Amino acid sequence: MNPLKNKILNLISSKGPLTIAQYMDIALFDQGSGYYNGKNPIGSRGAFTTAPEITQVFGELIGLFFAQYWLDCGKYNSFTLLELGPGKGTLMSDLLRSSRIVPEYLEACDIFLLERSSSLELQQRKTLHHPIPTWINSLENLPDQPVFALANEFFDALPIRQFIRGERFWKERLVASTGNELHFVWSREFNFKPLEGRLGDTKEGDIVEVRPDTDTFMIDIVDRIKQYGGIFLIIDYGENYSLGDTFQAMVNNEYTNPLESPGLADLTSHVDFAALVKGFADIAVSPLVEQGAFLTNLGIMERSDILAKNLAGVNLESHRKAIDRLVSPDQMGILFKVRAIYPTKGPVPQGFN
Ligand code: SAH
Repeated sequence: MNPLKNKILNLISSKGPLTIAQYMDIALFDQGSGYYNGKNPIGSRGAFTTAPEITQVFGELIGLFFAQYWLDCGKYNSFTLLELGPGKGTLMSDLLRSSRIVPEYLEACDIFLLERSSSLELQQRKTLHHPIPTWINSLENLPDQPVFALANEFFDALPIRQFIRGERFWKERLVASTGNELHFVWSREFNFKPLEGRLGDTKEGDIVEVRPDTDTFMIDIVDRIKQYGGIFLIIDYGENYSLGDTFQAMVNNEYTNPLESPGLADLTSHVDFAALVKGFADIAVSPLVEQGAFLTNLGIMERSDILAKNLAGVNLESHRKAIDRLVSPDQMGILFKVRAIYPTKGPVPQGFN
């Protein structure tokens, strides 16, 4: 049997059912068999493919976005360029390549990568060596200076808890076992304080999800932006709310049952973009813009046409397909959203109008 499933079954039989967050944490990050510690978790050979793995144009445009914001801010002498969950390092590598157009920007940046998976960190070390980044486990280790932060498909991978609404209280969905099989059960109803604010916009029987770890990251980065300046660009799939069951698993770029193969499937859920910025004051929050519109505003079509001039035949076709995958409404163009957080008195970032 799948060794991680065995481990989870044993844990449940000794301690009782797990929250989905506890289950995700083990399935994704178990030291021995967690999904992100396995071989090739991301890309065409992994369970899922992300935008930077589809085409270099994605990272190049994000690179120009940040360099432009740095120019608009008046060129900080020294600042932190931070990526949360850099995957294979492709996005940072493409971003740095396009940033070479503004050499002073590259000279001023200190690159930091927050990565929890040791095997992905190894891959990142192979891809990124000039300038040399610093790998960190916690944001506390960042220097006190402006921060330009980027998170692409980071928040969707953070563990969620899932609840179903009763009249005033909530039941939590838990992972339990019968024999050798894992299945979901609902807890008894209880008063879950963090969801009190959702009683107004939900009805009995609605499912909502919360992502407990997001606050740690958001509070730290927002505080730094308020104090020193900078910007946080978040790209992910989701909406401006959480409603319904969005917990999902992927193997070989196909959906599967999230409890079927822990450690072999990527587990994610849609990001609640309103919850990410809830409770913050004195900070500017951009509108939530669809990825297709954002990339189009940044000039993806013009950039694509320039690259296309040097391509022909199958290469041209796959280039066009890749661009289409990022922007087209029936692919990633609408499901994926973009939001920026920046100082109230700072310049307004491009791409959101
Ligand atoms: N941004 C990349 C990879 C997305 S996959 C891309 O677009 O291709 C999610 C990434 O977040 C992986 O690198 C994963 O190891 C990392 N990650 C997930 N949870 C994390 C956590 N709590 N702390 C640090 N990194 C985390």
